[in-house]
Amino acid sequence: MVGAIAMTEPAAGSDLQGIKSTAMVQADGSFVLNGSKTYITNGWHSDLVIVVAKTNPAAGAKGTSLFLLEAGTPGFTKGKPLKKLGLKAQDTCELFFDNVRLPAEALLGGADMINKGFICLMEQLPWERLQIAIGAVAASLAAIGWTVDFVKQRQVFGQAVAAFQHTRFTLAELQTEVQIAQVFVDKCTELLLLDKLDTATASMAKYWCTDLQCKVMDACVQLHGGSGFMWEYPITRAYADARVQRIYGGTNEIMKEVITRGMGLMQ
Ligand SMILES: Cc1cc2nc3c(=O)[nH]c(=O)nc-3n(C[C@H](O)[C@H](O)[C@H](O)COP(=O)(O)OP(=O)(O)OC[C@H]3O[C@@H](n4cnc5c(N)ncnc54)[C@H](O)[C@@H]3O)c2cc1C
Repeated sequence: MVGAIAMTEPAAGSDLQGIKSTAMVQADGSFVLNGSKTYITNGWHSDLVIVVAKTNPAAGAKGTSLFLLEAGTPGFTKGKPLKKLGLKAQDTCELFFDNVRLPAEALLGGADMINKGFICLMEQLPWERLQIAIGAVAASLAAIGWTVDFVKQRQVFGQAVAAFQHTRFTLAELQTEVQIAQVFVDKCTELLLLDKLDTATASMAKYWCTDLQCKVMDACVQLHGGSGFMWEYPITRAYADARVQRIYGGTNEIMKEVITRGMGLMQ
């Protein structure tokens, strides 16, 4: 089954507590789901969606639950895949819920988990953020590899682009920073396996590695010259794909808020 997780709504992204979708419990213990979601990865292809909805709208985050919703359930419709700058091999779409009837068993984790959806989401966020950081390091290494190949073969002024000290120093700096990122990500992976990766550390990895990824992509595009702007080159597609890494999974600004909270600077 293809899975998706539906949190974001047209009026609630960073401010997830502001979601408006509701799943109201009925006399027989079933739920009725109403609302909509947007920017949902795998939304179009999904067979099973975890939907974040308010079960007690007056209670804010403490009134949020998670539901399992299967494609084809009456009242559940999918919008067309949205047109994106990058990540074109992956679909992102809107989902609509119009009086969708969900059995009591659709509540993820069972009856004990009613109104505890936010806690579940928070517990899994470090892993999601680390996955994004791992992807950022892998993409950066690939970009440096493509660029090394390119600058060795591309001739200008009678010599390879690699022969310019500027090219070599740029690549040396990027390679160094990506190695530093790799060490940090490895450390975070170790902590994750020990169940000790906290939200602030995972947020540091997500923010710093994705900022670095975008810096690497930009420099590597530059070293490709005009070829770096042509879709047929992997560096161009990697440049487009990189941009969203600083946005989804919690924006990098939100990551910095989380880090400062861990430093005791904010409530
Ligand atoms: C390709 C793609 C795939 C996605 N996949 C999924 C998915 O599978 N499931 C899902 O639920 N969502 C998904 N999202 C949604 C994504 O998580 C949100 O877009 C993201 O969290 C930002 O929310 P927003 O778009 O509402 O931006 P907003 O929250 O409106 O933010 C706008 C700007 O304000 C800034 N900002 C917001 N709050 C603060 C603050 N407190 N301090 C400083 N600056 C702030 C943000 O950093 C940003 O720069 C996806 C998005 C994209 C683009």
